[in-house]
Amino acid sequence: MKKVSIIGAGVGGLTTAIYLQKAGFDVTIYEKNDHPGGKMDLIEDSGFKFDTGPTIVMMPDVYEQPFKDTGVDYRDYFTMERVNPFMDVLTEGNKFELSSDLVDIARDFEAYGDGEMLGFLKYLTDIYGKYINAKNNFIYKSFRGPGDFYNLKTLWQAMRLRTFSTSFKAISKNIKNTNLQYLMSFQTLYIGISPFNGPSIYNIIPMIELIYGIWFIKGGMYEYAKAMAKRFEELGGQIRYESPVDEIVVKNDKTVAGLRIGQGFESADAVVANADFPYAMESLLGLPDQKKGKYGKAKVEKMDYAMSCFMLYLGIDRQYADLKLHTIKMAKDFEQNVHEIDTGTLPEDPSFYVYNPSSLDNSFAPSGQTSLYVLVPVANLKENDNWSDQMIEDYSEKVIEKVEKDLALTDLSQHIVVKHVFTPKTFASRYNSLYGTAFGLKPTLMQSNYFRPHNKDSRLKNLYFAGASVHPGAGVPIVITSGELAAKEVMRDFK
Ligand SMILES: Cc1cc2nc3c(=O)[nH]c(=O)nc-3n(C[C@H](O)[C@H](O)[C@H](O)COP(=O)(O)OP(=O)(O)OC[C@H]3O[C@@H](n4cnc5c(N)ncnc54)[C@H](O)[C@@H]3O)c2cc1C
Repeated sequence: MKKVSIIGAGVGGLTTAIYLQKAGFDVTIYEKNDHPGGKMDLIEDSGFKFDTGPTIVMMPDVYEQPFKDTGVDYRDYFTMERVNPFMDVLTEGNKFELSSDLVDIARDFEAYGDGEMLGFLKYLTDIYGKYINAKNNFIYKSFRGPGDFYNLKTLWQAMRLRTFSTSFKAISKNIKNTNLQYLMSFQTLYIGISPFNGPSIYNIIPMIELIYGIWFIKGGMYEYAKAMAKRFEELGGQIRYESPVDEIVVKNDKTVAGLRIGQGFESADAVVANADFPYAMESLLGLPDQKKGKYGKAKVEKMDYAMSCFMLYLGIDRQYADLKLHTIKMAKDFEQNVHEIDTGTLPEDPSFYVYNPSSLDNSFAPSGQTSLYVLVPVANLKENDNWSDQMIEDYSEKVIEKVEKDLALTDLSQHIVVKHVFTPKTFASRYNSLYGTAFGLKPTLMQSNYFRPHNKDSRLKNLYFAGASVHPGAGVPIVITSGELAAKEVMRDFK
């Protein structure tokens, strides 16, 4: 039985592990923390629980796939339900109740004139075609070498994606009202890139929300991490928690021999790094810098990194009946807000997102109380690493005041009984994300598709990668896909 070692029990590592264990490999995951999930994490405190990372479930069929593909019914592991309308979005002076029902969408767009609904349908026709193209030719395909991309068919399909414009420009071509433009463009922040300079192909994200809907996992996202770990272990795999890997040990500059963990050495026939790719190249790969090939220190530091988040997890000793599961409040000047994030300025008037799972599920808080999650997109540590204790305190206060006022949550600040804060520094220390990004490498045009780090290392014959910073990218369903692609690369080499 071939031995595979995986570094990290994030969603990417767990997915790879499930597929490989099922295929007959002997798989062990080494995880630095004491529980699975990586950024799909949980805090429990005084009867409250908080999902700390992902909260919005898109593409539920992808969540089901690792269970289906290993011969079990996902419903025996976790429960999902559709949420519709799925999100309140507040722009300056307007409130939208976003829905994935075409009748509701028509009502919202036609309120601004039927030309806007026509614009929406044109956007949809264009982006759905691109989605099919991306799905069939790029997302579910692993790139190993130049021949996988530089061939006539793939280049032709890449041309057809016509992705050179920015997301915002592409939206504005068909939709003219600023509120509606904002409504259709903030979603690129889900993968940590600005709609004002990110490639237009990421306009796929609002389409997926509106066409396939948004779902909720009963008990919260962490239930999914637990379900994956359970499936892997019942297939016979092992997870070693509190086992931070120190080095990917390389033999003769060509082959990975195994992992160094503290004073110990664990040999392996293949290693899959789910730990953030740029961190793994910089801090784990046991090769002198000049032998790391394309991803030496200079290149890793020059790459573009996605934004991060300032997070508040608040236990509130009352309820707010009108606060839905997902609410987004957009900055008055959204473009300025995103520009500040990109250039490392802490936003004075930030956009923010609030998650209120207590509105659907009473397992999150003691009876009559509320578990609140507040996310403010901020710069990564490369752009701004000034997170002193005082700064954190001041910014928390400012954000709480803003949430209270903008969402009309009466006396919110006086009802906080539990408070936890994550800054970009937390993402760096807790998950080893380089520069504390929440979403890994930024998905610019030159860091997407073939140009994103591959699932198989180009020089070392038995080293593989799964996770947000490698192909196809960030976000839970896409990372699940990355995990599956990495597993297939291992199978291709060893079966
Ligand atoms: C605040 C926030 C909100 C988000 N919201 C959403 C959302 O609503 N919907 C969505 O789809 N996506 C969302 N995402 C993105 C999504 O959570 C991530 O893309 C995904 O979880 C990343 O998974 P991963 O496996 O690539 O990496 P990670 O989750 O970072 O896993 C990597 C694992 O490797 C471990 N590790 C690192 N170094 C070592 C080492 N040396 N030795 C051993 N173990 C190591 C880490 O501890 C971690 O467990 C959000 C992310 C954040 C941070």
